[in-house]
Amino acid sequence: MNKPTDQFQRPLHDLRISVTDRCNFRCTYCMPKEVFGRDFEFLPHGAVLKFEEIVRLAAVFVGLGVEKLRITGGEPLVRRDIEKLIGMLAGVPGVKDLTLTTNGALLPRKAQPLKDAGLQRITVSLDSLRDDVFKAMNDVDFPVQGVLDGITAAEAAGLHPIKVNMVVKRGLNDADIVPMARYFRDRGHILRFIEFMDVGATNGWRMDDVVSGEAIAAMIDAEMPLEPIPSRYPGEVARRFRYRDGSGETGVITSVTQPFCGSCTRARLSADGSLYTCLFATTGTDLRGPLRSGASDDELRAVLVGLWGDRRDRYSELRSEATAPDRKVEMSYIGG
Ligand code: SAM
Ligand code: SF4
Ligand code: SF4
Repeated sequence: MNKPTDQFQRPLHDLRISVTDRCNFRCTYCMPKEVFGRDFEFLPHGAVLKFEEIVRLAAVFVGLGVEKLRITGGEPLVRRDIEKLIGMLAGVPGVKDLTLTTNGALLPRKAQPLKDAGLQRITVSLDSLRDDVFKAMNDVDFPVQGVLDGITAAEAAGLHPIKVNMVVKRGLNDADIVPMARYFRDRGHILRFIEFMDVGATNGWRMDDVVSGEAIAAMIDAEMPLEPIPSRYPGEVARRFRYRDGSGETGVITSVTQPFCGSCTRARLSADGSLYTCLFATTGTDLRGPLRSGASDDELRAVLVGLWGDRRDRYSELRSEATAPDRKVEMSYIGG
């Protein structure tokens, strides 16, 4: 079958798979406690896709051109036996890149089993090196050292390269930009700064809270000179820079100030099996229903081809303060 392209000629290359909507953190920009508190109803277990279901869908996606799979959530490492899923996905012919994004808290015991199962590389999120700031952001009193231990475990297990994601929110952790850049440059990890985004409808986003990727790069450049380097492949989301002294690279993900919808080749599968063609979508398409009622691979393929063929998403190019409160789905549900 031909590989589908959407209404703007964008192919389908990446699939992000959310394996759970639950998380052991309550980052204020993602799962604020006031919303994701004791009374919040997470997906019931029966609603969440089983590993076999995820793998079957992933194989259908790979047949349509997907080469890269990223496991995410919620926090993917809270899903029981996650390494089994990694092993199953690593065995799908045609998967060229298999990776996972985690808050790192459970990595000290999960890094080696994940590597052994076939995980190739990993992204760990960390927003500050200062305990008071980091704890205020994760809102569960989790210390910086716990994440650093996770990164060390990933390194020891041979998960390379390690990328570190830092969401920057003005007035909260912008003072951490240069110290974080220096720290991870010195350890040979690639730190990527993410502009604070208006994902979901609960994080109180305001444009004033966004520090632009350009400003971030300028702050680093003033201390440790940088030069831009080209993307490795079309559709790469990070704008990359190398340190002029040859000591490594860093990047900025400018979803707000310099959107990259024109080359967006990503689809997202929620933990309960709905497909979203944009991080900022308000509705998804249920794939679990057909999957559980006996649809064949050809039937699933036809649904996906139709869906991707109709895709016109370019939210970040249209964003304004007025669109921020739209009832978009939460990032913890469809996956970052
Ligand atoms: N729990 C895992 C983690 O935190 O790495 C994986 C899921 S998380 C939703 C994926 C990524 O999205 C993380 O790097 C997180 O920092 C980022 N993220 C969450 N909310 C965001 C927001 N409002 N703006 C920008 N990035 C955000
Ligand atoms: Fe959890 Fe990741 Fe969201 Fe933080 S960013 S609340 S760790 S899912
Ligand atoms: Fe892709 Fe939607 Fe983000 Fe644009 S806003 S880059 S279409 S996910």
